[in-house]
Amino acid sequence: MVLRTVFKRSYTDSSSVIRNLKNPKLFQTQGLINGNWVDSDNAVTFDVSNPASYPNDASFIGKVHSMSPQQYNSAIDSAHEAFKSFKKSTGDERSELLRNLYHLMMDNQDDLAKIIVLENGKPYNDALGEVKYAASFFKWFADLATTTTGNVINSSTNSKKILSIKQPIGVCGIMTPWNFPAAMITRKLGAYVAAGCTGVIKPASETPLTALALGYLQQEAGFPAGVVNILPSKNAAEAGELLCSNPKVKKISFTGSTNVGKLLMKQSSSTLKKLSFELGGNAPFIVFEDADIDSAVDGAIASKFRSSGQTCVCANRLFIHESIYDEFSQKFVSKLKETTTLGDGLQSGVTHGPVIHDRSMKKVRQHIEDATGKGAKVLLGGNPREDLGENFHELTVLGDATTDMMIFEEETFGPVCPLFKFKTEDEVLRLANDTEVGLAGYFYSKDVSRIFRVAEELEVGMVGINTGAISEASLPFGGIKESGFGREGSIYGVEDYTVVKSMVLGI
Ligand code: NAP
Repeated sequence: MVLRTVFKRSYTDSSSVIRNLKNPKLFQTQGLINGNWVDSDNAVTFDVSNPASYPNDASFIGKVHSMSPQQYNSAIDSAHEAFKSFKKSTGDERSELLRNLYHLMMDNQDDLAKIIVLENGKPYNDALGEVKYAASFFKWFADLATTTTGNVINSSTNSKKILSIKQPIGVCGIMTPWNFPAAMITRKLGAYVAAGCTGVIKPASETPLTALALGYLQQEAGFPAGVVNILPSKNAAEAGELLCSNPKVKKISFTGSTNVGKLLMKQSSSTLKKLSFELGGNAPFIVFEDADIDSAVDGAIASKFRSSGQTCVCANRLFIHESIYDEFSQKFVSKLKETTTLGDGLQSGVTHGPVIHDRSMKKVRQHIEDATGKGAKVLLGGNPREDLGENFHELTVLGDATTDMMIFEEETFGPVCPLFKFKTEDEVLRLANDTEVGLAGYFYSKDVSRIFRVAEELEVGMVGINTGAISEASLPFGGIKESGFGREGSIYGVEDYTVVKSMVLGI
């Protein structure tokens, strides 16, 4: 089964899109250290390519400077120095900086979205949505910057008063993935700036250009030098180790895979840093027999196939009650056929782009082959689309999935959707929770008692009930189990970048 396509091998010339940005200064390829744009001091660069046209020549977007260990240490030193004065700035001052940055992102949204499409592959409308979502964290944290409070606490004696205040923790090491090149950074940067911290950011090597564009905009917004340092690196392991082991860095905030999270936790133990980890998921998406099926179909498409299945909160396993399984699967497949178009994200009408690279493609193929080998039926898609480019794969739906398949255990992070049948609520809760990770979960039901029961029983940090879209700045975002700890966005987002100091006042 082949999805509709709008073009064949008519690749977007990535460098010409870059040359035609309305604001050419957004395209930066050097590192940003202490307010200065710098070349790699050991002359190492790496290519950033468009996954939609890879490996065609038109895929080349730019050569980015890879920062050396010395440059990482120098950025940490400058963040440490900048912290001495930035921690004394007022909430109002930090709020103004964040609000400026919010407006600058919105003013440059078209260019930023194009950069995201080029380096990540997601379609333009999704990228524009990401820019707005990413900017919303600056607006959100601009408000929170002015409202951080402490407590006055009664002592057990009348001769003392206890006060607690929240102080910025210090220099933060920030590491982010490629799937939301803007939002994964703003969710952390907005929070650490609101708290009064400074930071050294290592963006994903697939998508450093969006991060560097944000670096340019924060300068325009008036941030003091050293508060935001952005250091692309082609050696993630080296950069991670440097950030985790440097005693001047007081906090690590990482979004990425569970395996890398475990490594960073080990590396951070020598200096006992405060950690926030947003790691991988394996989200269950349950459709009960009393659900509104059409609405569940829409929610499942949004949740499973957004960014071609490459979001951490994507549904990974769909559990459908046996009494509605046939109706749901038919409607799901027909709506996907009618509404989705695979292709280059800058072409109009395209709704779904490529996977990010060959490693993702390999995992997608492995999950499909393993599942079909164990009896899954291909209801939609099932094949790579080499005619579109090496990284394209059809949106794929697999029926009759079973728990012995790899896709039950592992996050696919790609456009493959397995449908599992279930009979009872107890059974589906056991299956949904039968995983080491717990980031997001979803279910559809109209029964109010069940809604509370199931929402409380699902072992995840975030639950979507009768909706497949949960992310926004006000949501406490984060997981439990091996999906990590800490919460981003929301009223809790700033707290992760603060420490509580208690003062006891004798009176
Ligand atoms: P990844 O391999 O863990 O990469 C994420 C970041 O870590 C990148 O900047 C990467 O750098 C860096 N990295 C890789 N190896 C490292 C090492 N040894 N030491 C230090 N840093 C290292 O994850 P991914 O496959 O790119 O991203 C997908 C994963 O992220 C999925 O599991 C997804 O669920 C998770 N995710 C979670 C959330 C959440 O909020 N919970 C959000 C988005 C994604 P390079 O790019 O330079 O290799």
